[in-house]
Formats: sequence, C-alpha cells, structure tokens
Amino acid sequence: MTEKCFWCSKESSELTKIQLQFKKKPEEVKICGVTCEKELRNFVQYADTHIKHYMFGFVFSILFGLVITFWRIKIDYGALGTFIIFAGSGLVLIKYPFVTPQTVALLGAKKAIASGRILGTISIILGVVFWFVLAKLIP
Ligand SMILES: [Zn+2]
Repeated sequence: MTEKCFWCSKESSELTKIQLQFKKKPEEVKICGVTCEKELRNFVQYADTHIKHYMFGFVFSILFGLVITFWRIKIDYGALGTFIIFAGSGLVLIKYPFVTPQTVALLGAKKAIASGRILGTISIILGVVFWFVLAKLIP
C-alpha cells in the first residue's frame, strides 16, 4: 500500500515517520525524504511563531475595515472599508498561508500553502474590484 508524503504529497512506499511540535502538541507525520523534512520543519516553525500574527491580522483587517465602512458609508458607499477587509485579509493569507488541516490532508502541506497564497491574491483582486465598483461605478 502506498502512502502520501505529508509535505509534497508524492506517493511512496518508503516514507519516514517524523515527530513535529505544533502549538506544543507533538504530531506524527510521514514524509518522503530529507528535503521534505527540512522544508516542513521550517514551515511548522514559521507557523508556530506567527499564528498569533495571522489571527491578529484577520481580526484587525475586518474590524478596521468595518469601522472605515460605517464611517465613510455616505462618502464612498463603503468602498475604502470593503477594500481594507478584502485586501487586508488577502495580505495576511499571503504572508501567513496557514490553511485548514482538511486542505493539508487533501493536497499535502506544500500545495495547501500555495493554495492559501492563491486565495490571498484572489482576495486582494476582489478588494480592488469591490472598491472600483463602489467608488467609481455606483456614484
Ligand atoms: Zn515529500
């Protein structure tokens, strides 16, 4: 029976079990080689130190965006606030591409991270589109 590498999701019959520490909880995953192990450990360490910034970034983008939306609703139909919500969340996701464990299980960690970055980019583009519609087209 072949299994998939946790990091690159390549199928292999010779996977190595390794221990990871994430949020102080040990987790056992299987990887296909030393390169994958190194990349995975680097990312887990990055995620572990930045998970607070990730949460804070999202909460801040949404709250700040909502405040600006209500404050400027009569001026720009909430264009700037909407832009801040989408572009802010998008930037957070590009800088800290931490996606759900389900996505990781489905795609492997490496592709899941890339999909997080793509999602972030789409969110920024949406922010620009909404801003354009609200600020330029509606008035
Ligand atoms: Zn691998």
